[in-house]
Amino acid sequence: MLYFKCSNHVGERFGRMLAIGKVPLPTLERLATYLTALTDLRMGNVETISSTDIETRTGVNAPQFRKDLSYFGEFGRPGIGYNVRDLHARISAILNLDRTQPVLLVGVGNLGSALLGYPALRAENFRIVAAFDNNPAKIGKSVWGLAVKDIADLTTENARLKARIGIITVPSSAAQEVAEKLVEANVATILNFAPAILKLPRKITVRNVDFVQELAVLSFYLTKES
Ligand code: NAD
Repeated sequence: MLYFKCSNHVGERFGRMLAIGKVPLPTLERLATYLTALTDLRMGNVETISSTDIETRTGVNAPQFRKDLSYFGEFGRPGIGYNVRDLHARISAILNLDRTQPVLLVGVGNLGSALLGYPALRAENFRIVAAFDNNPAKIGKSVWGLAVKDIADLTTENARLKARIGIITVPSSAAQEVAEKLVEANVATILNFAPAILKLPRKITVRNVDFVQELAVLSFYLTKES
């Protein structure tokens, strides 16, 4: 499970209730949380759950859960609850995770290597299909079974792989250049781990992940406590 808190540059600009179509961004974020919980339940062979069970597992209250689902039609049966497999399948389909989502990763250093070895990506149907770097000492080496490719070949490789999601794990000084290369290679959405604000065409969706910022928020609460 990925517990990094993300921010979305488009969402920040227009407020947290930015709708993608009619669906608020926080609803999409919670759907991903429900999916993780449902994956665990499915693996534990649990057949049926109630919205209260979801509340216990995710911390999202039951009325909010029902409201989130209501954007996408009818779910569950009164007095019976939700069939875990059905709900998992429907949320997967909403998030386009009912098919394998190929992902590119650029920057095979400490963080990039750790993400390449992260098993939960596969459980949610993400596949990092290629990893790129510009360090000749790394190009051609195998990391978690994937041969590191030359960043110079990004566009050519993705013409074949057709990934629409890119992950950036390069130093912040290289993040903008790498992001532009990903866009040139027809990537439409970027998960950016580098502490850099990316300037990209509006049609590109970027989510920034920064665990240091999250620690800073936690630190604030400690100050209040003492
Ligand atoms: P690292 O130095 O170990 O790895 C960076 C990799 O990027 C190296 O392999 C390097 O060769 C490669 N690289 C550099 N420029 C490149 C380019 N132009 N094209 C392709 N590859 C290039 O760094 P790290 O510790 O793995 O950190 C990576 C990034 O992630 C940094 O920006 C760091 O600040 C950030 N980070 C974010 C979080 C988070 O929570 N968001 C946590 C840790 C690190």
